[in-house]
Amino acid sequence: MTASQAQVEAFDLVIFGGTGDLAIRKLLPALFHRFVDGQIPAGSRIIGVARESLDDDGYRSSLRTALHEAGGTKAKVDAFLKQVGYRPLDARKDEGWDAFAALIGEQSEHVRVFYLSTSPELFVDICARLGHHGLNHGKSRVVLEKPIGRDLASANQINDAVGRVFAESQTFRIDHYLGKETVQNLLALRFGNALFEPLWNAEHIDHVQITVAETLGVGHRGAYYDRAGALRDMLQNHMLQLLCMVAMEPPSSLAPDAVRDEKLKVLRSLKAIDETNAAQVTVRGQYRAGASEGQSVPGYLDELAGGKSNTETFVALKAEIQNWRWAGVPFYLRTGKRLPSRVSEIVVVFKPVPHSIFGASAGPLAQNRLVLRLQPDEGVKLWLTIKHPGPGGLRLRHVPLDMSFAEAFGVQQPDAYERLLLDVVRGNPTLFMRRDEVEAAWRWADPILAAWSASGEAPRPYTAGSWGPSAAVALIERDGRTWSEDGE
Ligand code: NAP
Repeated sequence: MTASQAQVEAFDLVIFGGTGDLAIRKLLPALFHRFVDGQIPAGSRIIGVARESLDDDGYRSSLRTALHEAGGTKAKVDAFLKQVGYRPLDARKDEGWDAFAALIGEQSEHVRVFYLSTSPELFVDICARLGHHGLNHGKSRVVLEKPIGRDLASANQINDAVGRVFAESQTFRIDHYLGKETVQNLLALRFGNALFEPLWNAEHIDHVQITVAETLGVGHRGAYYDRAGALRDMLQNHMLQLLCMVAMEPPSSLAPDAVRDEKLKVLRSLKAIDETNAAQVTVRGQYRAGASEGQSVPGYLDELAGGKSNTETFVALKAEIQNWRWAGVPFYLRTGKRLPSRVSEIVVVFKPVPHSIFGASAGPLAQNRLVLRLQPDEGVKLWLTIKHPGPGGLRLRHVPLDMSFAEAFGVQQPDAYERLLLDVVRGNPTLFMRRDEVEAAWRWADPILAAWSASGEAPRPYTAGSWGPSAAVALIERDGRTWSEDGE
């Protein structure tokens, strides 16, 4: 444990949906890593909950593979699993809840975290039952996984139901993108250096691109995904949060509400996209059969049981922030499945120099770019123009000042969930979404969804393994710009 990894109080963490994909692939390995670093105090309990009939040992066995894959030795995994248990419970039935409440009540002095890693339809039932059984004591917190609703109305329904049991200060709406090192590094870069902030405005920044590209298709998540689509699944939450971190005004401190107040102002300043302009500034796509990572892969419709769908697996759009800092600076956002590479990055493109003193033989003068890569290899690159070394005429080169975190610090970066889970235990909501942020994001997204639905147009087809429909290229090229490729 390093000095910066302050110890937390003993806690009980209940994971509803403890047998699910997220719990096994992400949450338990994240907790395991924190355990190995000595941050899970003795006496803390991690309790998985789902309907499946398992006992403690059965649950522990089901976690072993994932924990070994997360780098755990047998001794460490055994020691960690001593703190892990399981209770079968149905969120929708009363049976078993009295015994569960008695179990949780055994450690009344512990911080209590109820992590709802289930489908959001269950959030209302789970919170009502937690309330009914008196499980919200002063040190309880609830964590809500995305998606929080599928529009403003359904988000309000969930938030109202959660709010009947837990205060806003106890409610942690997780967006794991905010726990990524690069995103926090954006705070450090912007507000820990004198260099960037004077340039961080419409006078010096030409435009911003945010890309979240996946190579995978929908796979077994088709039933969920087909009801959501790329805008609801990625853009309305993760990508808008990234946009906010780039665009917000400097908060007065890192206090939770100071940061969230600034993000909220950005969300409220987004220019409306509705039936009057959606056709010009948004592009929806859906992948067809093609090739991904050297393998031929089926199209979206082939993967769906029903075989018919108007759901978008790709979206690109041009967002605008209507305030003094960002007037006239487009934020181009694109996300999709079955794209050529798995990459999430923010590219801040600065304006060209006002006048070139170099002749044509020097080569083209590229614009400076700050590239913040969230995955696969987290890091920051600042692209600069320098002279090509050596004698001869003056030729220019565009080269990156490259800070790959893994190389610079010689360690594998912790997964975002590791940080966020401990932030919940500590009661620090800075990196979690406040209710009004979720509402503002839906208020902006709902008219886009309504415009698409009113137009009745099917999403444009694109070949799996390509960068989406050609209209997405046209969207940015119409403005005389191009999408950034390969971190440039
Ligand atoms: P999942 O694999 O389908 O798991 C769902 C879990 O909920 C299972 O443990 C299931 O176990 C349990 N469950 C279902 N009905 C229940 C009931 N009535 N009472 C109690 N438990 C019940 O889903 P997931 O992929 O882990 O996703 C969980 C949540 O996280 C979703 O909201 C998802 O959108 C979000 N999320 C997931 C990922 C990811 O990478 N997987 C990423 C971001 C967000 P039983 O069937 O045995 O009850």
